[in-house]
Amino acid sequence: MQNKNEQILIVEDDSQIRNFICYSLRQEGFPYTTAATAQSALSTLVSEQIDLLLLDLGLPDFDGMEVIKKVREWSEIPIIVVSARDQDKEKAAALDSGADDYLTKPFSSTELMARIRVALRHLYKARGMKSQTSLVVGGLRIDFDKHLVYLDNAELHTTPLEYSLLSLFFRNIGKVLTTKYIIKEIYGIGYGSDTQALRKLMAGLRRKIENNPAKPRYILTEIGVGYRLSDV
Ligand code: CA
Repeated sequence: MQNKNEQILIVEDDSQIRNFICYSLRQEGFPYTTAATAQSALSTLVSEQIDLLLLDLGLPDFDGMEVIKKVREWSEIPIIVVSARDQDKEKAAALDSGADDYLTKPFSSTELMARIRVALRHLYKARGMKSQTSLVVGGLRIDFDKHLVYLDNAELHTTPLEYSLLSLFFRNIGKVLTTKYIIKEIYGIGYGSDTQALRKLMAGLRRKIENNPAKPRYILTEIGVGYRLSDV
């Protein structure tokens, strides 16, 4: 199971929120360190072993988005963005810049811990299962070598596009993928913001894999942002 040796860096200039996050992490026994500016966050990241970044976007010196871009030049550590309510555009931009997930303020300690656990599981998978040829989420399994998908142990017929979409999600379990990113990966760059085709593709896939497509358990909708393959 999870060992709590991971060092989490909390980047937040609001001391009240920072204290709340520190308190929550202490309760769960996670080691952490803090930074109140983008500059000090970056110097901590280069001088210490950090395994997960919890990043506020509105920082006093420069934008958190710039931190994401800089970090992604040399590191693949999970980045969870903390942003104010109703900033869907900003969230999507943060995810497109390489963030893994986001939390909307105000959030509960339970929510925070759930997101951290998902991000860390994602990290372990990336570290330990690079060569994995088959992955499982609930009753859904993908075999990358054979290009096959199984649902409750029965082979599932998928179209090439559905398979591409599913394998994209399986390569990013638990991670929010923006609509823009998915379209680029599945259809290519020229399709830009044509979300209609993706919505149709998603509806077709959900009919095949979900018991109740209106209440999906595998591919979840992140309203205004994109989709996420559930980690359970
Ligand atoms: Ca702030």
